[in-house]
Amino acid sequence: MKVIEKIREAAKEDRVIFSFEYFPPKTEDGVDNLFERMERMVAHNPAFGDITWGAGGSTADLTLDISNRMQNMICVETMMHLTCTNMPVDKIDHALDTIKSNGIQNVLALRGDPPHGQDKFVQVEGGFACALDLVRHIRAKYGDYFGITVAGYPEAHPDMITGDGGVSEEGYQSDLAYLKRKVDAGSDLIITQLFYDTDIFLKFVNDCREIGITCPIVPGIMPINNYKGFLRMTGFCKTKIPDEIKAALEPIKDNEEAVRAYGVHLGTEMCRKILAHGIKTLHLYTLNMEKSALAILMNLGLIDETKVQRSLPWRRPTNAFRSKESVRPIFWANRPKSYISRTVGWDQYPQGRWGDSRNPSYGALSDYQFMRRRSRNKKIQEEWGGPLKSIEDVHERFINFCLGKIRSNPWSELDGLQPETMMINKELESVNSKGFLTINSQPPVNGEKSDSPSVGPLHRILISGLT
Ligand code: FAD
Repeated sequence: MKVIEKIREAAKEDRVIFSFEYFPPKTEDGVDNLFERMERMVAHNPAFGDITWGAGGSTADLTLDISNRMQNMICVETMMHLTCTNMPVDKIDHALDTIKSNGIQNVLALRGDPPHGQDKFVQVEGGFACALDLVRHIRAKYGDYFGITVAGYPEAHPDMITGDGGVSEEGYQSDLAYLKRKVDAGSDLIITQLFYDTDIFLKFVNDCREIGITCPIVPGIMPINNYKGFLRMTGFCKTKIPDEIKAALEPIKDNEEAVRAYGVHLGTEMCRKILAHGIKTLHLYTLNMEKSALAILMNLGLIDETKVQRSLPWRRPTNAFRSKESVRPIFWANRPKSYISRTVGWDQYPQGRWGDSRNPSYGALSDYQFMRRRSRNKKIQEEWGGPLKSIEDVHERFINFCLGKIRSNPWSELDGLQPETMMINKELESVNSKGFLTINSQPPVNGEKSDSPSVGPLHRILISGLT
């Protein structure tokens, strides 16, 4: 689903929503830990999560892989950042084709910074000069498939900012006008650069509206986690730091806990003010850390650690091509990776055991269900069609089936119990008579030869335990 659709839905219901940004970690362990962290954070139901594109395309493969896993295994609506730096158009298309085939519908289209060691952005041969070109390309080549987000700069892009004087009015206006061109070219959402002066952000939103930018503008909130990191980031982005923030940080700058607590307090206050101005989507730059982002949302009353809920035992798929999935074998509920990788091609087999009735070719075998032998239907009718008046009647029906007194059942094509289950039919009778209903029951089998007439052909793998 496109993020813009989620934002519109929430706006209709006057609901506040939020999202989390992550970046590709440097090590494999870091990647594993990030996914564990995402699992915990996504349990709080963000509207989407996004993953950055490493400067100069340095993390291209990893960003693609993480996007796929976010969308299909973590099951959070995913937005992938994509920049033009070092990216000829065939590489851009490879990235877009890849996420499209993985059911991802959201891209944050960026120019990107100059590659490491260079001052100025240089258009690579066969590539794009700016985000506007990229937006145009995505719309021209992929039509409406992608929701496109672009970056907005409340204090103007750093290239426009000179010295301590900030940006000239002319530079600011030209940056805004350029932003409008990106939106007019087909972007449907703006996420802003980080800022610490909320008034600057609110003025920016007003200025955008004045020149006719109507799409949602989502504030990018970066909680202060660490003093040095904060100075580095704000220096790089040429972000204005209000005097009261400087004054609050100065005495605590060597105390990490105190800095973090202040960061949570500041982030909460900034978000409160933004929400009070009617902006209902918050974007949190997590820097791959979970505590501060969650603490801010908790302070705002947007999440509650004690009420993490899921509507299904597994997280609903976000993949554009399987988002309506509503049935999944329960024992795979907590193994999404193997479940999704095993079933990814099942769309090709719509008549199979888990065939998907939404597949256009489902039922092509002139209605498989109705090709059952008529005699079988008659037998089911006789054996199961009588009225069940009490729970004891149900148990009796199950017991009779286990003992072979009736041989059909409505949910299986097979004629009576299979030989391996006959080995435990007395136990099943006992279990069913004690108030449990048994299905799919098989005996523990260990070391039987594969030519065993009762368990061989069916038990090529070890199955253990009564169910
Ligand atoms: P553009 O929109 O192309 O604009 C860059 C500047 O050039 C602006 O000042 C604009 O006004 C000016 N400009 C460009 N073309 C024109 C024109 N034709 N006419 C007039 N002015 C023009 N970087 C990464 O490497 N990876 C990421 O994942 C990443 N994620 C980001 C996410 C967000 C929300 C933000 C705000 C930034 C992100 N960045 C990322 C940083 C971004 O790549 C840099 O800020 C980069 O320098 C500019 O990218 P852009 O898409 O804003 O560029």
